Amino acid sequence: MRQLVAGNWKMHKLRGPAAALARAIAADSPVLGCDLLICPPFTALAAVAAVLRGSRVALGAQDCHAAESGAFTGDIAAPMLADIGCSAVIVGHSERRQYYGETSAQVRAKAVAAAAAALMAVVCVGESEAERDAGRAAEVVRAQVMESVPDGFEGVVAYEPVWAIGTGRTPTLDDVAAMHAAIRQALRHRLGLDGAGLRILYGGSVKAQNAAALLAVPEVGGALVGGASLDSGEFLRIAAVARRG
Ligand code: PEP
Repeated sequence: MRQLVAGNWKMHKLRGPAAALARAIAADSPVLGCDLLICPPFTALAAVAAVLRGSRVALGAQDCHAAESGAFTGDIAAPMLADIGCSAVIVGHSERRQYYGETSAQVRAKAVAAAAAALMAVVCVGESEAERDAGRAAEVVRAQVMESVPDGFEGVVAYEPVWAIGTGRTPTLDDVAAMHAAIRQALRHRLGLDGAGLRILYGGSVKAQNAAALLAVPEVGGALVGGASLDSGEFLRIAAVARRG
């Protein structure tokens, strides 16, 4: 399966630096065989969309509202993201679950809204350190998949252990394999045969130096990259070791 390398820029980059970073990534992308996605902050989407037009790099946002439109001050609807040039959106990132109390039911509603706007949803799941220490990682993540993934889902799931995000720590390769196998099983349970072909990304402190090992783990369909996606060289070195097909 062709792997997807996605960059989550979080709340970083004004329009100028965002366009410059996108330009550097797009310039090198023709030699890369994997799928590439970058997710800048909302305010930089238009500038980055202009840079990526005609390139192989897809544009995504970091969140959307579940409603198509309405009185939701400060929020952004999925059709608005499609309108600005996005083809994907991250939903249920652990920072949204943690800091804004997003539930899996809300995440599922956002994934439904994304699909209705023809956006590929990247649904994030992952256990906390306390849940892992209690031996509950697989159980917690399985429940998140069952509750966050809507019927007929055609997007991507990203497994991101909360304790590995931005910390420089990663699970062992055996743990990554076990969690991805558990997620695959949950997707099959949730979606039947359709759950067998969906990509499951690994995210959490992916860097150029550990990418080859992580991307070689069975059932890893790519990477969701935070900090390392803010440097074009580092991001492209990760993409260079991803599978082409
Ligand atoms: C993320 O926030 O999705 C992430 C994986 O961050 P980092 O790569 O910095 O751990």
